[in-house]
Amino acid sequence: MVQVRGLWKSFGPNAVLRGVDLDVPAGSVTVVLGPSGSGKSTLLRSINHLEKVDRGFVAIDGELIGYRRVGDRLHELKEREVLRQRTGIGFVFQNFNLFPHLTVLENLVEAPVGALRRPKAEARARALELLERVGLAEKADAYPRQLSGGQQQRVAIARALALDPKVLLFDEPTSALDPELVGEVLDVVRDLAGAGTTMIVVTHEIGFAREVADTVVFMDDGVVVEQGPPAEVLDAPRHERTRAFLAKVL
Ligand code: ADP
Ligand code: MG
Repeated sequence: MVQVRGLWKSFGPNAVLRGVDLDVPAGSVTVVLGPSGSGKSTLLRSINHLEKVDRGFVAIDGELIGYRRVGDRLHELKEREVLRQRTGIGFVFQNFNLFPHLTVLENLVEAPVGALRRPKAEARARALELLERVGLAEKADAYPRQLSGGQQQRVAIARALALDPKVLLFDEPTSALDPELVGEVLDVVRDLAGAGTTMIVVTHEIGFAREVADTVVFMDDGVVVEQGPPAEVLDAPRHERTRAFLAKVL
């Protein structure tokens, strides 16, 4: 489903991704771990072309993201085309990023109507269904500021789902939350996993990774150091760098 091949990305002299390969099969959950600054966010942002990489490519369902192949060259797509591709890639940020001036329901309806030209009534019905799914139907008319961080993040997840994405990317979805609110957000992500949603989740929640991930990827210094099932990477890591990282976070 998600194919990442040979990604290189530098910011000035700082090589942040140094040849990253990743495969995420449809319906599977990949958890990405790694120290701060190892390139996790840059990897996620490169997957939906928020970052333009220097080398390598990303394909989702066989479709190149951000480029079109002409002979053996890649031509960058127009912004409008990239935006269309991004509707198929849900992104959930650490800081929720809800539209503060819109109600919860309006937050969910905006993109399906604006970007996908769905009829408003249909988008509203689907939005209410999704709010039900994340346990927030009664907050449809509230504004983000009236919600707890955990509730805001559940809305952000529902908003991402409203576009029926092929894959959902999470960048430390619980890092900005008070500890007592982490569980309700992870519960929603766990439900999605159970329903077969294809996901890439950057998180430091090792317990969640052990329980929900099909594959755990450990990144350090812009490379994938090791990857495999949680029982291997978390409980029997082969690389010293993985062991050192786990010793700090466990
Ligand atoms: P992580 O998410 O694993 O903490 P990031 O991908 O955010 O790591 O960052 C990796 C490195 O890239 C860091 O050194 C960071 O300072 C640098 N970096 C990220 N984004 C930018 C940017 N837009 N401009 C310059 N440097 C950046
Ligand atoms: Mg990050």
